[in-house]
Amino acid sequence: MTAARKPRKRASKKRSTILAKAVRQPTRKSAPVSKVHAANDKLPPPRQPMRPRRGGTDPGPRNITLDRQNPDLFIPPKTDAGILPNLRFSFADAHMRLERGGWTREITMRELPISTNMAGVDMRLNAGAIREMHWHKEAEWAYMLYGRARITIIDAQGRMFINDLGVGDLWYFPPGLPHSIQGLGPDGCEFLLVFDDGSFSEDNTFLLSDWVKHTPPEVMAKNFGVPAKSFARVPDPDQLYIFAGKVPPPLNRDRVKGAIPTPLAYTHKMMAQKPIKTKSGAVRITDSSNFPVATAIAAALVEVEPGGMRELHWHPNTDEWQYYIEGEARMGVFGSTRNARTFDFRAGDVGYVPFAMGHYVENTGSGPLRFLEMFKSAHYADVSLNQWLALTPPELVEASLNIDGKTVKALRKTKAPVVPV
Ligand code: MN
Ligand code: MN
Repeated sequence: MTAARKPRKRASKKRSTILAKAVRQPTRKSAPVSKVHAANDKLPPPRQPMRPRRGGTDPGPRNITLDRQNPDLFIPPKTDAGILPNLRFSFADAHMRLERGGWTREITMRELPISTNMAGVDMRLNAGAIREMHWHKEAEWAYMLYGRARITIIDAQGRMFINDLGVGDLWYFPPGLPHSIQGLGPDGCEFLLVFDDGSFSEDNTFLLSDWVKHTPPEVMAKNFGVPAKSFARVPDPDQLYIFAGKVPPPLNRDRVKGAIPTPLAYTHKMMAQKPIKTKSGAVRITDSSNFPVATAIAAALVEVEPGGMRELHWHPNTDEWQYYIEGEARMGVFGSTRNARTFDFRAGDVGYVPFAMGHYVENTGSGPLRFLEMFKSAHYADVSLNQWLALTPPELVEASLNIDGKTVKALRKTKAPVVPV
């Protein structure tokens, strides 16, 4: 494409023509365009949807950037077959709701129809900004992606929990319990929220200001024992939801005197956990066994070195909702009855694996791969294909796959979530 560009000849043109052109195309300057071309020239030529004796070139319109990002969609492995639904959606393709104090975007069943039992939100709160005090019917599980935040929650016994979080920390809010989130200094925070219902929307929560706005002033006055005019200036819910605020004082000064603390913590330091380690990566599992309040959502944080792979496995309890934090990956999913598909992922993408479907996640990038697996369950559970075969009588395995004894001997009796070990 670059070679086809003709050099400009201006010298011979009349002054009036040059001026007219300059007026018509005031923004077209040669420098930025050539920069873009130079960047594209560094990439290998775009691939064509072809395998030996299959496919053909794609001479029509193409979104080459997306083709390059999804090589296993564009030229699927030969082993892909059948009609598995879409199992990937990127936050980059989700609507961004910009508010005074931050932004939010969500991936629900609207965006990813297969994700029936979980939904996710990516939210940014600037320093001091507040996610309005609210509650909802769903359980909320969160992972801190950036910066620092302060959360508050009260339980049904009137006991209070307040804490600060940094990158790699979690919080969990049980269904129905009211809570708040605030960005701290110096630059607020960004976090991932996961809910235990695919149809959940951040736009449908019970907002404090919304209730007050829809309660008669005399009822408000009677309820709180104050004059009715005390609530005359409550902002419209449209002005809140996420709104700018002041960075709060240090945690110990922000605690209300006389508040009885909750017996359990609603936050957890996931990165402080000792991981299950192999040569090719590490896995940290957080569920109700080590984070007792998290009774509806379990999670694993998986790190895979270049060339490594989250081994072939499946989950015997429920669907898996994934969020990719860093790196590049491909995931192959086996959906029974000759159905298999492969998807590519990078930072900011969401993946989904329906209940019991076999899968692997391979690091296809040159740097580390980090992603989260979330489950609507009190407990994390997986079945390793390798371990299953290794612990089954060898004759049975040999006969089933027509493999030799040497191959069966290579199987591993202990589970290794990331391979090679
Ligand atoms: Mn919430
Ligand atoms: Mn999995």
